[in-house]
Amino acid sequence: AQSRYATIRDTACVTQDGQRIELMMNAGLMADLPSLPTSGAEGVGLFRTELQFLTRNKVPKRGELADLYARVMGAAGDKPVVFRTLDIGSDKVLPYMKAEDEPNPAMGWRAIRVGLDKKGVMRMQLQALLRAADGRPLQIMFPFIAQVEEFLEARAHLLREIHREKSLGHRLPETLRVGAMLETPSMAFAPRRFFEEADFISIGGNDLKQFFFAADRENERVRRRYDTLNVSFLSLIEQIVGRCAETATPVSFCGEDAGRPVEALCFAAMGLRCLSMRPASIGPVKHILLRADLGAVRRIIDETREAGDQTVREAVMEYLRSR
Ligand code: PEP
Ligand code: MG
Repeated sequence: AQSRYATIRDTACVTQDGQRIELMMNAGLMADLPSLPTSGAEGVGLFRTELQFLTRNKVPKRGELADLYARVMGAAGDKPVVFRTLDIGSDKVLPYMKAEDEPNPAMGWRAIRVGLDKKGVMRMQLQALLRAADGRPLQIMFPFIAQVEEFLEARAHLLREIHREKSLGHRLPETLRVGAMLETPSMAFAPRRFFEEADFISIGGNDLKQFFFAADRENERVRRRYDTLNVSFLSLIEQIVGRCAETATPVSFCGEDAGRPVEALCFAAMGLRCLSMRPASIGPVKHILLRADLGAVRRIIDETREAGDQTVREAVMEYLRSR
């Protein structure tokens, strides 16, 4: 499948109407990094850090993590890597850190909530990231932020670790960007301060969609029940893109839907200029974007919304067939 798109691998992703879309890849293992050059991804837009915690029977050591993160940054070379801090709980349960049974784990004690309550693990991971950067640029994002204070508190921990690293004589990152994942609908309506304070926003569409439609992403009976191209969901994306534009905050989308060509096309039409996906999706997504006129797709989406239809999928598919 990779070779089918080999001819466009090194082509910049620019649409027919001249919009430049950045395509990044998601990763979670050192073994994913060889896909960076072969897929043509421009960087790692989401490095999930759970796997190293899930595959052991105790909390990994700081040195082990620092070593892995350093190898990931080394393999990426000049391309950026965005590390997401630990997102456990919900579907990712640590055998050695079992919370009491929760009636609704996806909405329970997970991700940044665990990080802020059990600071030891988060601090250790932040130290590992700082050590790994060892003077290189570093990008970190915090998962599952549901109100602005959580982001500010998490970032304050990071700044404290930076001070500590400095006082210990360790090299600090050359540059540091601190972002937030937007995966609860509340943050689309967060105070302006949130968008001002975050260096960047990454939309976690898997969770955002599950909470927007109240449809469990793990439940086969409901997980495909609501179309991502539902006009309400696209309006939510439009709202987020608009909020980010007010403060010139860079925004990307890193949920699985970014890797589905028609969805990616509609997200770009709603104003997203950076998409992060599994490496095998880069080719198919770039293929559709290179041939698309985003202005035309946007007009179709707007007309469909105004007509009162539930989803824009049919109308956009019709446009793609008619070209
Ligand atoms: C998401 O929620 O879209 C996301 C990228 O994070 P995860 O799938 O790891 O929850
Ligand atoms: Mg998520």
